[in-house]
Amino acid sequence: MPIPEHLSHIINELREDREHYFNAVAPPIVQTSNFAFKTVSDLQKVFEDEYSDYLYSRGLHPTGDILRKKMAALDEAEDCLLFNSGASAIFAAVLSCVQSGDHLISVRKPYTWAQKMFDTVLSRFGVTTTYVDGRNIENFERALKPNTKLIYLESPNSWDFALQDLGAVAQLAQSRNILTICDNSYCTPLYQKPIKHGIDLVLQSATKYIGGHSDVVAGILTGKQAAMKKIFDSELLNMGNGITPFHAWLLIRGLRTLPVRLKQVSQTATEVITFLKNHPKIEQVLYPLDPAFPQYALAQRQMTGAGGLFTVVLQVTQRQEIVEFCESLQHFLMAVSWGGHESLALPRCAAIKPEHFDPSHREHRMVRLYTGLEEAEFLIKDLNEALKMIQ
Ligand SMILES: *Cc1c(COP(=O)(O)O)cnc(C)c1O
Repeated sequence: MPIPEHLSHIINELREDREHYFNAVAPPIVQTSNFAFKTVSDLQKVFEDEYSDYLYSRGLHPTGDILRKKMAALDEAEDCLLFNSGASAIFAAVLSCVQSGDHLISVRKPYTWAQKMFDTVLSRFGVTTTYVDGRNIENFERALKPNTKLIYLESPNSWDFALQDLGAVAQLAQSRNILTICDNSYCTPLYQKPIKHGIDLVLQSATKYIGGHSDVVAGILTGKQAAMKKIFDSELLNMGNGITPFHAWLLIRGLRTLPVRLKQVSQTATEVITFLKNHPKIEQVLYPLDPAFPQYALAQRQMTGAGGLFTVVLQVTQRQEIVEFCESLQHFLMAVSWGGHESLALPRCAAIKPEHFDPSHREHRMVRLYTGLEEAEFLIKDLNEALKMIQ
C-alpha cells in the first residue's frame, strides 16, 4: 500500500528546505522562544504584521510552518493555523465568527467541548445556539434567524456518524452571508475535503489520525488566508494556544505514514465489521461506508474513506453485560480518543449514571470501537471471546 504520487510530494517534499539545515532528512525542531533582528526597521516590520515573519514562538515558528504548508495543501486550502489542541482550534474558529447578540446553528451533539463552548461560554456573552438534526438540510433553513452568523458542522459525527450534506449547507450559508465551520476529525483531509464543498473553516483534532501514535494533543485549522490571518492576529496570539515546535514536529512525523495507516485501519475495520454484523449479540454496526448505513449514499458521495472508527449497538438488557464485554477485552484498550496504532473500546454507558441506564435507548447500549494497526484476525478473536462473556 504505497503512498500515491500526489500525496508523496506534499508529505515528503513540500516546504522541506533541507539545504538550510545540513541536508538533514528529518527537519529540525527549532526550539526557541524568540528570534533576533539586525535592524530596527526589520523588527518594526514584524511588529506591524506578526503574521509576516518569525518574532516570538507563541506566534509563528519554522517547524510549525513546515506542517502549515502541508496541511493547507492536503485540505486544498489557502492557509493553515496550528493549535495546542483540537478543542482550542474549535474555540478560536468559533470565536472569530461571532459577536455579542449573534446566533449560531450547530449540528446536534457536536464534539463535547464544542457543545460546552456554545452552552456555557458563548451564552454568557449573549450568543445563542440552535441545535438541529443535520441529516436534513431543511432543518438548517428552519433554524435560520436574522442574526444567524455561523453554521457549525461535524460530518460525520464521531459516535453515530450522522452526516451533513456539506455542499448543500455551504450553499445555503453563502446565500445568507453566514460562515460555516466543519469538524473533519473523522475523515482527515485524505478522506474528505470540506473546502471543496464550499465550507469556510475546516478543523480537525490532530491528536487522532495526524499524530497517529497517541502521544500528542494538537489541532489544525484551514481556510482562506485572510481568515487565518484574522484568527492569528486575535484569537491565537491572544489565547496563546498555538502549537509548540516539538508537537508540530511530532505531527510532521505522524503525517509521513498517514496514508498507509489510514488505508490499513480502514481495511481492518471492514473485516472486523463483517464479523460483528453476523454476531447475535450485535444489534447494529454503525459505519458510514457500510452499505447498511442509513446515509451510505451521501457518505459515498462526499467521503473517499472512513478509517478505523465505528460503533456497535449491543443486544443486551443490562448495563452489567456491557461492563463484562468491555472488561473482558484483552487487546482493545478501554480509552477515549482514536486514530493511534492501538485498538480501543469506549462504552457510552460510562458517561451515563448507572441508575439512568435504560436499555430501550439504543445510545445507552453503544460501544465505540477503533481498530488500530493489529491484524484483523487477532482483533476478531478478542471481540469474539469478550462477546461470549455476555451470551
Ligand atoms: C478529539 C476530538 C476533538 C478535540 O480534539 P482535542 O485534540 O482532543 O482537543 C474535536 N472533535 C472531534 C470529533 C474529536 O474527536
